[in-house]
Amino acid sequence: AFEKNTAFVLFGASGDLAKKETFPALFGLYSEGALDPSTKIFCYARSKLTVDNLRENCKQYCRPSTGGNDKFKMDQFFKMVTYISGAYDTDDGYLRLKGEIEAFEKERGVTQPHRIFYLAIPPTIFLTVAGQLKKNIYATNGITRVIVEKPFGNDLDTSRELQKGFKPLFREDEIFKIDHFLGKDDLKRLLAVRFANPFLNGTWNKDYIECIQVWFKEPFGAEGRGGYFDVVGIIRDVMQNHLLQILTVALMEEPVANKAEAIRDAKVTLLKSMEKLGPKNVVSVGQYGRSTDGKLPSYLDDDTVLNKESKCLTFTEITMDVHNDRWEGVPIVMRAGKGLDEDRVEIRMKYKKNVSGMFAGCTPNEFVIQFHPERKIYMTFNTTAPGFVDNVHQVSLDMTYSDKYAKDWVPEAYERLIRDAFLGNPANYVRDDELDVSWDIFTPLLNYVEGPDAPEPEIYPYGSTGPKGILE
Ligand code: NAP
Repeated sequence: AFEKNTAFVLFGASGDLAKKETFPALFGLYSEGALDPSTKIFCYARSKLTVDNLRENCKQYCRPSTGGNDKFKMDQFFKMVTYISGAYDTDDGYLRLKGEIEAFEKERGVTQPHRIFYLAIPPTIFLTVAGQLKKNIYATNGITRVIVEKPFGNDLDTSRELQKGFKPLFREDEIFKIDHFLGKDDLKRLLAVRFANPFLNGTWNKDYIECIQVWFKEPFGAEGRGGYFDVVGIIRDVMQNHLLQILTVALMEEPVANKAEAIRDAKVTLLKSMEKLGPKNVVSVGQYGRSTDGKLPSYLDDDTVLNKESKCLTFTEITMDVHNDRWEGVPIVMRAGKGLDEDRVEIRMKYKKNVSGMFAGCTPNEFVIQFHPERKIYMTFNTTAPGFVDNVHQVSLDMTYSDKYAKDWVPEAYERLIRDAFLGNPANYVRDDELDVSWDIFTPLLNYVEGPDAPEPEIYPYGSTGPKGILE
């Protein structure tokens, strides 16, 4: 099913993302037979590196379960890799890269090139590299696909600027904008969980659901990534993109077909019915301070946070409103924070109380999809306890991946996304209009929390539950 003899070009191959995600994903796919061995991986960056350096850098991040510690497999995989050092803003390096790609395609007898370009580089040089690759190495008589990393802009205006910059260079179907949560198996599965189970879909609405909670809790802080985090903050880092994606898939109507554009259409329709966020949506904001025992550093203690008076939010809780027939009036709460007491990313649909009949007042049901720390889907379910006592109690109907799919290979997010790009399937990538409306929802909130009337972040102890809010 894969195009043979694909030239996969990794810009920024010397970087953090390449070593932690891109190489391990390519290697994982190769190990599972999901990356055609005829592929050639052209690595490009300014640093003077060798393929051995790249291999050494990424080794610890390649999953042993995929053969990450299998020397033979690694040897075979790295035979597909080559490294070219060059600048991002001048022609010279691109011309050498072009020469190598063309030599590869000629040797393989390729008449219609298939080239995938992965921009694992800082957003500040997205357009420089995009322009150069269009000029020098675009597959004029073949297929070009460009994978772009997040963040795609800082707000609505900068996102539109970036879109405007890409527009004359590539068609929308050639650009694959990543939100890696969309590659998560559990989020993908939510489509089937909702729409292949009528009993669930039939009750996912304002008549049955009391409230919806989206959680993102990280037990660690900025830790060495303060330079990046301080300009981004928790809202841009996880809420406007990852958590909004989870919410959108959970709340959208059933797509008219199981096809990329139909799925993305359904998401955009849902997003358009979400109210823009502003001051009234803010429940609490915070920044982590030292832990109560003084052992763990505050955000401002981090050496990589240069502005020692930074008001950067490491915690935010907001309410959200969806105005459509299905969800009108259902409270939605999104809570995200770093330096908290646990590792947890999940969406929780809390059902209404049973108000009449024999079991009126019993504990309401919950349906939970958990992404971290464990992949699992479960629901709480009322029954009577065993024995002679007739008390109603709750049990959990639980599908934990590590039990249910212990023997299966469950692709990691980047594995799925890269494979989709090879197949030309954009379903799990973010479309321009989707990006636009998601920034439209969050930009007024960002303007408020970063503007002159910004609320003062509450300092909460590292390792605590965070500021008081609706959710605890
Ligand atoms: P990075 O390590 O800072 O940069 C990647 C490579 O780009 C560097 O090795 C460097 O290579 C080159 N580079 C860095 N700064 C540059 C500059 N100012 N001008 C020109 N070249 C520069 O970045 P990364 O963490 O790998 O992230 C790459 C992309 O993925 C970014 O868009 C980031 O937002 C996104 N992302 C990263 C992560 C992550 O976990 N790291 C997660 C999600 C998204 P040379 O000097 O060798 O050319």
